[in-house]
Amino acid sequence: MSLRDLIGDDELPAGTLRELREVFRRRDVPEDIKHRYITLRARQLQLEQQLDDTSSALDDLQEQIKARKRREQKLEKRLIYNEKTGLANHTVLDNDLHSFLNEANSSPTPRDIVVYIIALDQSFEDAKRSLEPSLTDWIIYETGERLKECLPANARLYHTRESEFVVVLVHNSSGDVMEYYADRFYEEVSRRYTLPKYTIAIGCYIGIACHPDHGSTKRSLLRNADIALSNSIRSRRVFTTYRPEMSAAVIEKIELQNSIIKAFEEQTIAEINRQFELHYQPLIELESCNGSGLQGKVVGAEALIRWHHPSHGLVAPDRFIPVAEESGLIVPIGTWALYTASDLLASWGRSVGEQRNRRFDQLFVSVNVSPRQFRDEYLLSNIERALSRAEVAADNLRLEITESSIMDDPEDSLYKIHRIREMGIEVSIDDFGTGYSSLSYLKRFPIRSIKLDRTFMGDLLTDKATMSIVRAICNMAAGLGIEVIVEGVEQYEQIRFLWELGCRRYQGYYFGRAVPQDLFSAALDDWSLEDSSNGA
Ligand code: C2E
Ligand code: CA
Ligand code: CA
Repeated sequence: MSLRDLIGDDELPAGTLRELREVFRRRDVPEDIKHRYITLRARQLQLEQQLDDTSSALDDLQEQIKARKRREQKLEKRLIYNEKTGLANHTVLDNDLHSFLNEANSSPTPRDIVVYIIALDQSFEDAKRSLEPSLTDWIIYETGERLKECLPANARLYHTRESEFVVVLVHNSSGDVMEYYADRFYEEVSRRYTLPKYTIAIGCYIGIACHPDHGSTKRSLLRNADIALSNSIRSRRVFTTYRPEMSAAVIEKIELQNSIIKAFEEQTIAEINRQFELHYQPLIELESCNGSGLQGKVVGAEALIRWHHPSHGLVAPDRFIPVAEESGLIVPIGTWALYTASDLLASWGRSVGEQRNRRFDQLFVSVNVSPRQFRDEYLLSNIERALSRAEVAADNLRLEITESSIMDDPEDSLYKIHRIREMGIEVSIDDFGTGYSSLSYLKRFPIRSIKLDRTFMGDLLTDKATMSIVRAICNMAAGLGIEVIVEGVEQYEQIRFLWELGCRRYQGYYFGRAVPQDLFSAALDDWSLEDSSNGA
């Protein structure tokens, strides 16, 4: 047996190999003991080697973990400390205020919490424009240091925005302390800043609010300190303590802004009114369709826009809506349509009492909402405003939204349609059948009806494929409890075919074209069908 047979093929250090070779050559030790010794010793050395490898891998791993921790700490630090001053930021302020307020509320002795918002004045902004960034960074750092130095033990300092600091002071007696520190902060901040080539004077304004007098929640305390700060800046007083009248002034300002927006809105509407007009096409519900003709009544109207261009005359919506959509102008135009349709509903409401017009009360008006308008963040508030301005209830308004609008951002659409439904407004899917989405998918959205696109009418009676598609849509809609409104019906035979499929609501030239508001109201009786197979 050779030495290699005993120790295997593993590499062993030269010294060990020498040692084992010596043992192997000895003649004074019985062969079997010698062999066992060598095998065991080789194994031991191999295990030691493995242990070495493992522990250095372990060291590596530990080093990696440490590095990750350091990275995390750095990140965490950046999340809660301001990079320029190393001071705690608004996240920490938020947490601290929360716990200070909890402690104050459960403490047996009254405890005041004073919030100071300290904002550097315009001279800092001016300096920023003329100095190198590193110098303005230094000014900010120095401001933090100065405030830190005059901070009492029961206070904390935060760096919340670029040129804004907050101090929160917790103490057991109110009164002079509050103003004493405001003075101290101002004195410190407004001392001259000495830079290599110049000295600069920078001042500050301070807004103060105190718990419990000026607010009991962190939001109200911070907001009121902020209101006090605005007051300071406006009146050019170094510091201002919050007073309730200040809030009243802020509310008044917001109201004023609102009325400016309103005036602007009215003006825009008046402007659009000059060139645009809504026409209304009747929407009919059939009660019977048999050999003796059709019976039914007008249940609503679709508002369709018309543009009387100053030099081009009447421009069809198919021509200008895409342009308005692209430029974003569709948003004010669509809002105008909502306002105008709401006005019509209001005028119908006022007609209640005159016998002939009582039916108006039951009619709905359906307004088209373009994809861009549907995406607009103010859609919901615009609808609310249109309804409240006209003082009409939401139930008689409907919105028509195309399938593609919904599919643009299904999550947002779901939210919006829910909100619209909560307001009491029904939603129809317009031009149904031209897009790619299936009815069963659209069922996730709380919609009342689909409007079968008018292109199906072209060959409904001649093309087998069109017939099958329309039949499938109608069956599916019935199964899902969604109403079908057929658009663009022009012939009696189309209606007969669709009636058999279960369709009850129709819109199309067969019944009537879109007409101006006063004509619509006047023609309402003509459109209602009693034992006649003739359309209007
Ligand atoms: P739409 O929403 O599909 O409106 C129905 C269109 O079909 C109207 O065209 C209507 O006049 C027409 N129509 C109705 N019955 C028949 C019929 O029996 N046969 C035929 N051939 N056509 C019929 P209009 O008024 O030209 O409007 C075209 C499109 O412009 C509308 O299609 C709608 O997408 C858009 N639109 C109209 N008004 C507004 C609006 O206020 N806002 C928005 N965003 N889009 C609007
Ligand atoms: Ca429509
Ligand atoms: Ca349509």
